Amino acid sequence: MYPASFDYVAPTTLDEALAVLDEHGEEAKVLAGGQSLIPLMKLRFAAPRVIVDINGIAELDQLEERGGSLHIGTLVRHKACERSELLRTRYGTLGDAAPMISDPIVRNRGTVGGSLAHADPQGDWGSAMLAMHAEVDVRSSSGSRTIPIDEFFQGPFTTALEPTEILTAVRIPDPGARSGGTYLKLERKVGDFATVGVAVHVSFANGSVDRAGIALTGVGPLNLRAEAAEQALNGRALDDAAIAEAARLAADAAQPRTDIRGTEEYKRNVVRVFTERGLRKVAEKAR
Ligand SMILES: Cc1cc2nc3c(=O)[nH]c(=O)nc-3n(C[C@H](O)[C@H](O)[C@H](O)COP(=O)(O)OP(=O)(O)OC[C@H]3O[C@@H](n4cnc5c(N)ncnc54)[C@H](O)[C@@H]3O)c2cc1C
Repeated sequence: MYPASFDYVAPTTLDEALAVLDEHGEEAKVLAGGQSLIPLMKLRFAAPRVIVDINGIAELDQLEERGGSLHIGTLVRHKACERSELLRTRYGTLGDAAPMISDPIVRNRGTVGGSLAHADPQGDWGSAMLAMHAEVDVRSSSGSRTIPIDEFFQGPFTTALEPTEILTAVRIPDPGARSGGTYLKLERKVGDFATVGVAVHVSFANGSVDRAGIALTGVGPLNLRAEAAEQALNGRALDDAAIAEAARLAADAAQPRTDIRGTEEYKRNVVRVFTERGLRKVAEKAR
């Protein structure tokens, strides 16, 4: 099916883009990689009157460490993350998540910011960012604000973004020299959305867990933080007992539903196994 007709604007500055959003409010939609928005428009689940293509705004496409955190501009593609040495070496949760997202075609076009703004409960970046305790930078013509990732996701396909706001970047705090993480994803076939995904991240201090991050994909109405599992690790050595307890608590935190991808019980068990596997990988690396 063809999308409903719309006006198309392609500003080259953020201020111009924000002015268009101000003028049209809910009738306008930001276009980033188009990998979620275009299919929705073709199915006529979305019929924006104005498309604001932000791909020409160069300042939104930067991936670098800046002022004590990792800055991922909203337009940074999944592919750029997959290729990033920085992510592979310092931000393992993100480096491992990137190549798991769909297939090369989607990864070439799809953006980190678009994925977060879309807030699909089966989106992989959401959990990776929760585990890394990220913050989201947002701009409107009246100013800017920073939203902790836990407050950004509000429900399935629902975020804290206002229609006149643009997500400009996601920032990840420096995990410290002694840290590690990974992302594990079960998919029915390569390129599929997650049956279950588990993101883990651990920063160590004096041989113990200083800060843990564990988040789940595809097993709830939004990406879920397994908070009790994180708390069970904080301040402890990452040993077998701690890992087993965290894995059990992560499985408890999941809210899976039986569907074509598997039963509720099966998915909950995958959460437990993946949490354990992810934490073991981190513990081995730390040793
Ligand atoms: C076949 C297929 C398989 C996929 N598999 C996976 C998968 O396995 N895992 C996964 O995580 N994702 C998957 N995706 C989704 C993919 O990751 C998309 O890239 C992502 O959901 C949207 O990013 P985008 O840049 O394409 O955003 P767009 O489609 O351009 O936009 C998506 C939504 O976000 C809004 N938006 C975009 N950028 C901004 C911004 N800066 N500020 C405010 N609002 C904004 C748009 O208005 C729109 O509502 C898949 C997509 C396809 C088509």
